[in-house]
Amino acid sequence: MTNAILIATQNPHKVQEYHDLLTDLKHIKWLSLADIGLGDMEVEETGTTFEQNARLKADAYYQASKMLTLADDSGLVVDYLNGEPGVYSARYGGLKTAEARYELLLDNLKGVPSDRRTARFVCTVAIAAPHQPIQIVRGSVEGWILTKPRGINGFGYDPVFLLPNGKSMAELTTDEKNLMGHRGRALRAALPILQELLGI
Ligand code: IMP
Repeated sequence: MTNAILIATQNPHKVQEYHDLLTDLKHIKWLSLADIGLGDMEVEETGTTFEQNARLKADAYYQASKMLTLADDSGLVVDYLNGEPGVYSARYGGLKTAEARYELLLDNLKGVPSDRRTARFVCTVAIAAPHQPIQIVRGSVEGWILTKPRGINGFGYDPVFLLPNGKSMAELTTDEKNLMGHRGRALRAALPILQELLGI
């Protein structure tokens, strides 16, 4: 197998995060969906768990590319809301912008005291390769939902997620988010699997 990996996400923020995380891997070339002409291929996320959706995406993009494919499903799990928005994080309330979605979340938590605002970001990565069952790894980061947004970095719900170090996820530098974040953790768990599959 060649030493190329397909980063199978249509989310440009995720592509950037994976790129930053993979640049240390000198012998691996990563390609995005756009790079291989699949920039318009959407896979419907019909699963009810992060793992089901990650598997669906890894399988569909592997079938389309026949490349070693890494796909993820991620989102924000809020305990007080029984795990919402969860797998529906990208479509919470049917709202179109990230800001509208996190404002809805803040509304839904109005008046809830800080000790009951616990939450976590979760990332499940599925790895599909020729003649192999799909392999799954996970990463998560624990925190709390703030009462108003803070910080300008990152994307999605980052401005309303407070980390144990007192910063919001949107106040972290890219390097800090890669180190502490759910996607970085999941990818670090994926690295030995990728290295074994690539024989490096
Ligand atoms: P997916 O593309 O189906 O995995 O949807 C993930 C959604 O979860 C994103 O659109 C965001 O709303 C949210 N999400 C996932 N990862 C992050 C993150 O690192 N920061 C903020 N929001 C995130």
